[in-house]
Amino acid sequence: MPVNATTPAPTQESLKALIREVPDFPKPGINFYDITTLLKDRNGFRETVDALSEHYRKTPVDVVIGIEARGYFFAPAMALALGAGFVPVRKPKKLPHTVRSIEYQLEYGTDQLEIHADAIARGQNVLIIDDVLATGGTSSAVAGLVEMLEGRVVGLGFVIELGFLKGREKLARYDVFSLLQY
Ligand code: AMP
Repeated sequence: MPVNATTPAPTQESLKALIREVPDFPKPGINFYDITTLLKDRNGFRETVDALSEHYRKTPVDVVIGIEARGYFFAPAMALALGAGFVPVRKPKKLPHTVRSIEYQLEYGTDQLEIHADAIARGQNVLIIDDVLATGGTSSAVAGLVEMLEGRVVGLGFVIELGFLKGREKLARYDVFSLLQY
């Protein structure tokens, strides 16, 4: 059931209770927000997709992008809810046709993401979805890919935002929305 007047919006606390925090994963000092415990909960999963989709109900969206890999858990369901198409942004050498690539900075070294060159038409309205906004490096690179293809980034949406990492500042040019803030 979509979130509407008869279904109260889920509280932050009820959804946060479904997210497992794993200290020191994948390396010491990182507190990992594990959303598999949210995904397996039938109400939590639906409420998350509904609440994120509801935020974009009045936004023109032609295409929803999911960022490999955990963005794929949410973006296709949101695309269906919003009546949009779905486009995967992938790690290098996975997409079979002509791609556009972007390199971005990690804590140590660089990484790369790719999109099919024909995945987005000029002027299409694109919503970018991932599970976690941390430093914003990944999602800002994906916004760069969309702009290479002359798409219009209408929003970047996340289930979780780690506010202390100030990723939002890196995305200041865009409309950024997150469901749960830590
Ligand atoms: P960033 O580019 O720093 O914003 O990192 C975002 C990407 O890394 C997302 O795709 C997340 O899935 C993942 N990520 C970063 N930090 C965490 C964390 N503490 N817990 C879970 N996933 C994370």
